[in-house]
Amino acid sequence: MTTLEKAIEVYGKDMQLNVAIEEFSELIKEICKHKRGEDNLDNIIEEMADCYIMLEQMELIFDIDFSQINDKIVEKKNRLEKRLAEPKDSEMKPCCKCGCEAELISSQTFAWCNIYWYVICTNENCEEKTMLKYDTKRDAISAWNRRANNEL
Ligand SMILES: [Zn+2]
Repeated sequence: MTTLEKAIEVYGKDMQLNVAIEEFSELIKEICKHKRGEDNLDNIIEEMADCYIMLEQMELIFDIDFSQINDKIVEKKNRLEKRLAEPKDSEMKPCCKCGCEAELISSQTFAWCNIYWYVICTNENCEEKTMLKYDTKRDAISAWNRRANNEL
């Protein structure tokens, strides 16, 4: 029997869940202190260690296999990665004709059709826009910026 299994047997699942709540809130407290400017890295490390231990106990208490958690971790990190790769509007160059700000537009012909993207100039008197419609924001912005760079 592992140390953590023993702890659950001796103190009981319910008590160990209370301890988990306490440990997680202690980490929260240390994060707050850090944000207020306290130099408490040692305490943060200590509370993170306690939290890891409690997470491991929670796997035992709820009979969760770590692979179940890991699947979620991978999924969430992938989603985050995608979000981080999304271009920002600030990456768009100003209009190559009039120098005004550009705007990214999404469009969809019908609800069941894919959304596509293009970029237009925000100046009403200027008709500058990307020639094509693109499947991704990134492609639309790249095409717009190529025009701004006179690469087309
Ligand atoms: Zn323009």
